[in-house]
Amino acid sequence: MSRVIAIANQKGGVGKTTTAINLAATLAELGKKVLAIDMDPQGNMTSGLGIDKDSLDLTIYDLIIDDEKTPRECMVTVDALPTLRVLPANVDLSGAEIELVGEEGSTDVLKGSLDYIKDDYDYVIIDCPPSLSLLTINSLVAADSVLVPLQCEYYALEGIAQLMKTVGLVRDRLNPRLTINGVVFTMYDSRTNLSADVIDNVKKTVEVRVYNSIIPRNVRLAEAPSNGLPINLYDKKSTGAEAYRNLANELIEATK
Ligand code: ATP
Ligand code: MG
Repeated sequence: MSRVIAIANQKGGVGKTTTAINLAATLAELGKKVLAIDMDPQGNMTSGLGIDKDSLDLTIYDLIIDDEKTPRECMVTVDALPTLRVLPANVDLSGAEIELVGEEGSTDVLKGSLDYIKDDYDYVIIDCPPSLSLLTINSLVAADSVLVPLQCEYYALEGIAQLMKTVGLVRDRLNPRLTINGVVFTMYDSRTNLSADVIDNVKKTVEVRVYNSIIPRNVRLAEAPSNGLPINLYDKKSTGAEAYRNLANELIEATK
């Protein structure tokens, strides 16, 4: 049985894409069959996995817009990770948003495509854009659960309150299966009390799983995408790689 997990937070720059890339790559390294889906027209997940996003024949855009296209046609592979498949994106995907508006079933397009293939994978990891767009809604409708990266800063709580509301709305109207998988803290800075305070505060306030694995602020995590590599291939001994390994193992336990 596959687990379809959307990595979402309407707040920008909180570590969604970094988490999506490195969780997908680490799960694949652990031998899991993983499909990584880039639902953000920025295409950062695609390029972060070493895929040249501007020279692709087919992307997730084609899958969404063209009924004739199958997921397998649009997928690409990553050499070093044989159990990973990627449905890549580039700026074309921003057009899908406009083309879908007003179409019947416009919120279920991704789910429709995934239903055919998701059982080929242990995990499907979807990187969402930082907005409540139709692309995010499609991701939440296709997903079983939402993993929420929260940056360790004072505004983190605002982000999560908003997201909980969105997930509640999607659950009521579009996808009754949708749950919150949990919260993962990102960009933790052990030199300040602020990060620890924010974590305490969120743990007291929200009634969802908070992953024990905390992702530290780590320069290797920030460098890896410009080399087109996930952290486990770029610097497997870094604190960032270790943190994502811990998170992947914790997620496997939590979704057993
Ligand atoms: P957006 O909302 O634009 O999609 P995002 O939530 O996907 O952003 P990322 O792109 O993952 O966030 O991260 C934002 C920036 O912070 C990037 O430059 C990334 O390299 C950097 N970054 C993310 N996590 C870490 C970390 N743990 N340590 C250091 N830098 C990080
Ligand atoms: Mg992103």
